[in-house]
Amino acid sequence: MEKIKLGISSCLLGEKVRYDGGHKLDRFLTDTLGKYVEYVSVCPEVECGLGVPRKPMRLEGSPAAPRLIVTETGEDLTQRMADFARKKMVQLEKEGVCGFIFKSNSPSCGKEGVDIYNENALPAGTGAGIFAGIFVKHFPLLPVEDEEHLHDPGLRENFMEKIFAFAKSCTK
Ligand code: SF4
Repeated sequence: MEKIKLGISSCLLGEKVRYDGGHKLDRFLTDTLGKYVEYVSVCPEVECGLGVPRKPMRLEGSPAAPRLIVTETGEDLTQRMADFARKKMVQLEKEGVCGFIFKSNSPSCGKEGVDIYNENALPAGTGAGIFAGIFVKHFPLLPVEDEEHLHDPGLRENFMEKIFAFAKSCTK
């Protein structure tokens, strides 16, 4: 039987794509869930042309429309990320992904609860990372989760049920 395709933030698979050259390997995702699904690995920051290592970023501005900003220099990468993300959505749609597992707390990949800072560098609220936010808008029905939530047995079961329920309609 063909495996369900799931998008995933590349660093969770152990790929050294983080700003500091590290990864965030999650053994549950690779060794357990990985037996049942085929991952489509995406690192939005690397794939939109930012290198490894790179300067850290954060979300700034209003929670309604956060911007992706390089913390040290103030460079605004929002448009660059959004342009990449919109193209990537078309590719992911063709790939037939049935959901996505995002890296939590990332200004690009966090699906919710990512800190947003105001002009005085103080926390002004929380929201989704730029790539994850575009994914959720583009695929409003697809299950998405982050690795932190998947450590909770109840949330994990709920997510698994949803992706298997979607499998028939979205596997190719
Ligand atoms: S959180 Fe997302 S953008 Fe950051 S390293 Fe992981 S995959 Fe790349």
